[in-house]
Amino acid sequence: MATQPFSSADAQFAIAAVREASLLARRIQREMVTGALTKDDRSPVTVADFAVQALIAYRLADYAPSATLIGEEQADALRGSENAGTLRQIAAFLQSSIPSVTADEVCSLIDRGGGTPPATFWTLDPIDGTKGFLRREQYAVALALLQDGKVELGVLGCPELSLPAVGSNAVNSMGKGMGKGNGTIAAAARGSGSWSQPLDESTPWQRLAASARKNSREARILRSVEKAHTNVDEISQLAAKLGTSAPPVGMDSQAKYAVLAAGEGEVMLRLLSPSRPDYREKIWDQAAGSIVIEEAGGRITDLDGKPLDFSHGRTLARNRGVLATNGQLHEAVLGALRQLGA
Ligand code: AMP
Ligand code: MG
Repeated sequence: MATQPFSSADAQFAIAAVREASLLARRIQREMVTGALTKDDRSPVTVADFAVQALIAYRLADYAPSATLIGEEQADALRGSENAGTLRQIAAFLQSSIPSVTADEVCSLIDRGGGTPPATFWTLDPIDGTKGFLRREQYAVALALLQDGKVELGVLGCPELSLPAVGSNAVNSMGKGMGKGNGTIAAAARGSGSWSQPLDESTPWQRLAASARKNSREARILRSVEKAHTNVDEISQLAAKLGTSAPPVGMDSQAKYAVLAAGEGEVMLRLLSPSRPDYREKIWDQAAGSIVIEEAGGRITDLDGKPLDFSHGRTLARNRGVLATNGQLHEAVLGALRQLGA
């Protein structure tokens, strides 16, 4: 088993940055997300989103000063006097990683993530699956490097996920609460495979391989928890059409993509929500996860079978929804989607 599967400096940088950011996100979650949180109190995720984007922007500026970062967050809202307390909290959490950081610097670090993507850039979702973060379920820090519209490198930090060790008998374990665990990094570089390691580095990197299941009746389907992000009813219809016996499993964030890459599921769907039929995916919600799936031997396209096209700015403007599979079942699911008119 290789101790370090990736030779490139970019991969080493991205893995170290995502690991550090994942530990920061977990600390913020554990210190700020309480049972007493009111339903619409988004302050913990706000603090974590901004702190992680600022941290990764800082590390990237140090590693590659001329690199471009395209991140989900912008600091505008933080500059208002009504948010001074939030900004102070973000700076305080960040000071454990960047001791000298000031509130002003936090804002300019976050704003390094704005703008339109050039030919080569990094993209970041600091906290993917914000609802999962608030529910103390799955979420991910997602960082990817893109060149000419293609993802070359992707790293997912999933602070609440455990993937079974290769060779363990956990392959049929997917069910409610699946994967809740001590944290995982999943990383892939084009041509070098997909790999994972516990966040605490307690065991070596292991190679991820998509499931070999060919029978659609055995397909385990992964979907979003949030109904507003997908079409839960249509996914159930699709499951019936495929003849699957296991009910679709809801999981927040690109943690789903790591699970599929690890062979713990066969189909991951992002159907269009009836409330947002014109929604187009954000690049940071798909870039890192897509290469983790492809390098594990899986396949990812949109709902029409078209490759994801990352060359149209901050969204996948030319794609509709997402279908990822273990590869074996891709055509069967595309066919079932066509029949459903999805
Ligand atoms: P998930 O955890 O699978 O629910 O996906 C989380 C991501 O869904 C977030 O990062 C959002 O950017 C994205 N999202 C927000 N609104 C929508 C929507 N209407 N349809 C699909 N995805 C969405
Ligand atoms: Mg996201």
